[in-house]
Amino acid sequence: MADDRNEVIVMGGGIAGLTTVLALRAAGIGATAYERAPAPDAASAGNGLVVWHNAVLALRAIGLEEELDAVGAELLRYRFRSRRTGSLADWSVADGARRYGAPAYTVSRPALHGMLRELVGDDLVLGARCAGFTEDADGVTVRLDDGREVRGGVLVGADGLRSTVRRVLMPSEPPPRYAGMTACQGIVSPGAEGVPGGVPGGVLDAIPEGVFVNTFGEGTWFVYYRLGDGSVYWDAVLDDRTGRRIGSAASPLGTGLRAALLREFGDWPDPVPALIAAGPEADVLPVGIYDRDPVPRWSTDRVTLVGDAAQPMTFNLGQGANQAIEGSVVLAECLATAAGTGSGPAAALAAYERRRIARTARVARRSRTNGVLSSRHNPAVCLLRDAFMRVAFDRLVYRKTYRLTMDTDFGAPPTGTGHQEDSHR
Ligand SMILES: Cc1cc2nc3c(=O)[nH]c(=O)nc-3n(C[C@H](O)[C@H](O)[C@H](O)COP(=O)(O)OP(=O)(O)OC[C@H]3O[C@@H](n4cnc5c(N)ncnc54)[C@H](O)[C@@H]3O)c2cc1C
Repeated sequence: MADDRNEVIVMGGGIAGLTTVLALRAAGIGATAYERAPAPDAASAGNGLVVWHNAVLALRAIGLEEELDAVGAELLRYRFRSRRTGSLADWSVADGARRYGAPAYTVSRPALHGMLRELVGDDLVLGARCAGFTEDADGVTVRLDDGREVRGGVLVGADGLRSTVRRVLMPSEPPPRYAGMTACQGIVSPGAEGVPGGVPGGVLDAIPEGVFVNTFGEGTWFVYYRLGDGSVYWDAVLDDRTGRRIGSAASPLGTGLRAALLREFGDWPDPVPALIAAGPEADVLPVGIYDRDPVPRWSTDRVTLVGDAAQPMTFNLGQGANQAIEGSVVLAECLATAAGTGSGPAAALAAYERRRIARTARVARRSRTNGVLSSRHNPAVCLLRDAFMRVAFDRLVYRKTYRLTMDTDFGAPPTGTGHQEDSHR
């Protein structure tokens, strides 16, 4: 049994777990991440992500901005479109970068995970599944499902949406809330252009660099953007009603997924059908979307949560991984401050909760609301939504949402007094 009462045990080797180890290392605190997946790649499943200004500032605080820059592509614009009525809104992300003093990046999830994993090195133990833990006055003992035990001073549950650590902390909590939608993700690489079963030549060339395009339908939407390696990430989102309509009754999205998506998205504007049609069936990854209601506490004296384990949120603001990164860095700061002042882990975890619970709760709630608005069905309601977005989205939604998600306690305060001075078009 490993036993080091100063060591922080991090359960989970996803974005939150790995960033926590690196943030703690930067603060001079030893930590090891334990990941249930037996192989590194198995822990990095998924496709594209946007790392927004807030998470870039957090990564900068622990000296990792250059590494992110090497795997990401800078995001410059965010376009909202209606499948039927064309352009709805066009934000300048570059303005946000100036305001917050940090760019935003699109990045492939495996590339981001790989970058973090390489830096973590031997402080990641694979094939280690947490089965439970006990806490006493001197430390925490974690039980792995193969019978091994690990002991340390603090336990951080970074084990995602269905966290085992959370289940031990909150045994009577209901399971995560299904948000009623499925995201079907794919990646089209430049090598797939013009080849049989790939995308027709020129399709990828027509997709601009640095632009996130989000097109709304009725109960559906479609996102695409370029990643750092020149490939294009796409994500077709269906609410359950649409999923049932286009799939078989028994398995709405389980089989024939690409054909089902083409039935729904086949007459959408270019390049939507071509992106869906490219590549083998197995490359389309359907992911159900879940979140949880915020809770007032997620720590004991020596055990806490970070990332999706702490506050899972729907993907509608693209903030889950960003909040995971922020949370990891704040947690390390709080543990380092406590170590410096001799105030102990309980004070550190209480300070961490004070800085994180209200913030992540606000982001999760706004994300849930955005999801409800995005998945409207009724064509008349969709037309109203589109009209609202065209005339008032910038003023009423964008500025508030941008401020809510991007204003962090890292780095310099944003420049200017508000977004009034920004040009969004
Ligand atoms: C379609 C989609 C698009 C998204 N887009 C964005 C985006 O653009 N921007 C953004 O910020 N977020 C986005 N998100 C959200 C983001 O993916 C998550 O918030 C983020 O991955 C959470 O990271 P995490 O490390 O907390 O959890 P996870 O990535 O789930 O990692 C948890 C890790 O813990 C391991 N684990 C689980 N149980 C155990 C156990 N018992 N013992 C040991 N290990 C265990 C798992 O194997 C896993 O590796 C998106 C999500 C989806 C579904």
